[in-house]
Amino acid sequence: MTPEEFRRYGHEIVDWIADYRARLSERPVMSPVQPGETRALVPARPPEQGEPLDQVLKDLERVVLPGITHWNHPSFFAYFPSNAGLASVLADLVSSGLGAQAMSWQTSPAATELEEAMMDWLRQAVDLPASFTGVIQDTASTATFVALLCARERATGFSQETKGFTAGLTIYASEEAHSSVAKAALLAGFGRDNLRLIPTDDEHAMRPDALEKAIATDKANGRTPCAVVATIGTTATTAFDPIVKPDGLWLHVDAAMAGSAMILPECRPLWRGVEAADSIVFNPHKWLGVAFDCTAYYVKDPQTLVRVMSTNPSYLQTAADEKVRNLRDWGLQLGRRFRALKLWFLFREQGLEKLRQRLRRDLENAQWLAAQVDRTQGWERVAPVKLQTVCIRHKEADNLAIANRVNRSGRAYVTPSVLKGRQMIRVSIGAEATSRAEVAAVWSLLQSEAKSAT
Ligand SMILES: *Cc1c(COP(=O)(O)O)cnc(C)c1O
Repeated sequence: MTPEEFRRYGHEIVDWIADYRARLSERPVMSPVQPGETRALVPARPPEQGEPLDQVLKDLERVVLPGITHWNHPSFFAYFPSNAGLASVLADLVSSGLGAQAMSWQTSPAATELEEAMMDWLRQAVDLPASFTGVIQDTASTATFVALLCARERATGFSQETKGFTAGLTIYASEEAHSSVAKAALLAGFGRDNLRLIPTDDEHAMRPDALEKAIATDKANGRTPCAVVATIGTTATTAFDPIVKPDGLWLHVDAAMAGSAMILPECRPLWRGVEAADSIVFNPHKWLGVAFDCTAYYVKDPQTLVRVMSTNPSYLQTAADEKVRNLRDWGLQLGRRFRALKLWFLFREQGLEKLRQRLRRDLENAQWLAAQVDRTQGWERVAPVKLQTVCIRHKEADNLAIANRVNRSGRAYVTPSVLKGRQMIRVSIGAEATSRAEVAAVWSLLQSEAKSAT
């Protein structure tokens, strides 16, 4: 494709995306396609000859759109908000257009240095101390894996001979921790027997007394406690573990979803003690509005990270000696996208003030919904509403059936879930386009479907 052809189709595709976003509310939120339906629309073999891109554009409507669940739909209340702010969408286009690789400083100095600057802006925006250094990772799952690898290496003295030696090292997280924690612990070689899932209290947060006891028991049995993962905003109910750093253990804070809330000073007590962390992860690609993917990973000691992630023995010198950062040594990937552009565009186009306003709107909508549920007979809340997730259940009706009926209606999308053995419905508020009207509408819909399901 020539730049001139790109110009023509590019304008068309930007128009197409703008139309898609403008008329999103007319579409069913959850994709109604059946398994295999999309695949059946795609020819079995690749084309020998090229065709005009107009045909592909038509097929976006025919093949792709029916199989899309619309995460940016104003009535999307499932999982967690995954906002793709349009400024960051444009930045993504620029990133692809430049086609730059950010593996080392020299392969595109601006990609590395803008990433440093954006991680510093973001650090200030959530008021983390300057002692933390940030790097962009693809997902929170990767960042948590990286954190546990660093914890393992520090505990085993970074010795090349023992790399990978984990016998007897134990990991602690709450029973409500995200599945990525267990996955990271297994992949990092700790083994299922050495992962302790600590019981939670009535608000579904890790019990510090139970953590202390588990650590003491392990020590008494000759094990070596290695790392604690504190979840700041659990997946099921947005519960907040107390942040405690037991002596000598690595403390990783998983604030994947709730980290965005920390741009609001009034939310910061929810991660009180975060300065003690060795590593922190949060996802600007969730509530904040950076188009997927963009995960912020902050560490207190970049030297440890670089020692573990680098394969170059010269990095066993100090990272501070280097004039520039080579970000391939700050994570798993060699090739890296120029993701910092997405943060740069979003921050500059919105400004912190507008981002704060949107998040505060969502917090108010969640409190409003909680109040409706509390005053409605037959319904109850199963968790405190600390941020934007409202977890509710109908006391008599089949809650899974209610959620399925809502989702199949196409008018809203919620997540049925099980909390400590009981079925519930999660209403996660925070899509960029969600106003009070959509929250009120999903509440009416839940009530009427409950009547039909009783
Ligand atoms: C979303 C989430 C994750 C996983 O995030 P990915 O970026 O999809 O890997 C991990 N932990 C928590 C608490 C989350 O909310």
